[in-house]
Amino acid sequence: MVRRDLIGIEEQLLERYPELAAHHAVARRAGAQEITAVIGRFDAAGETDAEAFVGQVSLVQRTALEGYAASVRGLLPDDEVARWITVRDALELSAYDALLGDVDAPGAALLLDALEAVPGDEVTYGDQATLDQMLAATAARCECGYASSRVVPKRTCYFCAHAITEAWNAEERRLLSRLPALREELDQLFKALADRLAWIALNPEAEWSLVEHASRKAARGVARLNRAARGEIVEGTLASWLDLATDASHDYRPLVRSVAKRGKRTGLGAARLSTLALPGNPEVQARMKKRAQTR
Ligand SMILES: [Zn+2]
Repeated sequence: MVRRDLIGIEEQLLERYPELAAHHAVARRAGAQEITAVIGRFDAAGETDAEAFVGQVSLVQRTALEGYAASVRGLLPDDEVARWITVRDALELSAYDALLGDVDAPGAALLLDALEAVPGDEVTYGDQATLDQMLAATAARCECGYASSRVVPKRTCYFCAHAITEAWNAEERRLLSRLPALREELDQLFKALADRLAWIALNPEAEWSLVEHASRKAARGVARLNRAARGEIVEGTLASWLDLATDASHDYRPLVRSVAKRGKRTGLGAARLSTLALPGNPEVQARMKKRAQTR
């Protein structure tokens, strides 16, 4: 059992029980406003205490999850809740997920994901955002030192890791905008991968190894397309992209790390690949919604 199994069950339940989905949407909106308020308060005060920030965000998350759990109690058939609890209890909860152990409410994992204090979720950087801009926005919350020193630690913190993958993706999109043929072929490949990942996410029986298998297969495809386009890619233009790949290879998320380590061999598309299989990826979620609608 992996976290994705729990998310898959939640997606199905939210789709099948509109009343649950309605409560979920309310909790998500209210919680997101609270998180934005916390970020705003810290920004306004020039507050740099990362621990205090994380503490306040955790408090918002706990309140939101408990409120949501209370609002949906008795809404679902007991066996649906029991199934969710069984999967939840089979997971090794990370510090980030520990809260889930305290609430017996299907939808809680998705709610927690929605209430991540990710600056990137609140601020639109646009396609041309540089790492400098993003790190400036996260410096106050950085716990690993990278945001201010640019010295890459063994593992970048939550905030820096997100800024790096965001910047890496932005740089990749910038480079691909000059390589329309390659971009088109990569788009096709990623569309198929997102569809595959959506199928996996929606199937409670599917195991994590399927995600890894799909990612590896996609990496080989990306490498092949890059080799075919070799003549068009000017070596020197990849410098920033390669630097960002190196920084991303210190990501706290194992999946990002492994894709980033092979980034140079994989070529353009590796940045997008590094984040596509992460739980909650918007591209995959969009495919999941589409699949749910057409079933
Ligand atoms: Zn950091």
